[in-house]
Amino acid sequence: MKLLILDRDGTINRSRDDYVASPDEWEALPGALEAVARINQGGWRVVLATNQSGIGRGLFDMASLNAIHAKMHRQLAAAGARVEAVFFCPHAPEDGCHCRKPEPGLFEQIGVRFGMTLANVPAAGNALRHVQAGAAAGCPTHLLLTGKSEHLRGRAGPGADAELAMLLPHLPSGTRLHEDLPAFADWLLAQDTATS
Ligand SMILES: [Zn+2]
Repeated sequence: MKLLILDRDGTINRSRDDYVASPDEWEALPGALEAVARINQGGWRVVLATNQSGIGRGLFDMASLNAIHAKMHRQLAAAGARVEAVFFCPHAPEDGCHCRKPEPGLFEQIGVRFGMTLANVPAAGNALRHVQAGAAAGCPTHLLLTGKSEHLRGRAGPGADAELAMLLPHLPSGTRLHEDLPAFADWLLAQDTATS
């Protein structure tokens, strides 16, 4: 089974300086829904792992989060895409939980739910802490240069490794960089073609 673990804010939808607290504030990134559709068509199942500390901070409630995800699933479906499950951490940082990324708890929950080790389950997202959590859980990791990493766009080319290592000293080793989710989809599907 091919399973992919994506980040949400800044990866699929536009990130905000504060929180995506209502469906109106959930806005897909250009090409992101279509990228998920292509990934699905390549035989990949897709789940999300997302920090939603706005719940723990009392900024929005579960009904709002469910409404946001209902809108997301509707837009994904309209693009021919499907996200099977959303694993989220509702806690505030001071709760000291094991599921708030960069802790690996959400990824471990996903491994248990799908009954698989994560050694062949890519983790891709714009936030360094998503990549760190994925690496801690044993996933191959991919940083997308959107959202929190948008300032690095255009710097993912060949020969940029030394410069990026200075810019991203905490990036887990072996992490691949991609301009955005559509570019990651291209890479992932090309890998499939090369190995099948
Ligand atoms: Zn948590």
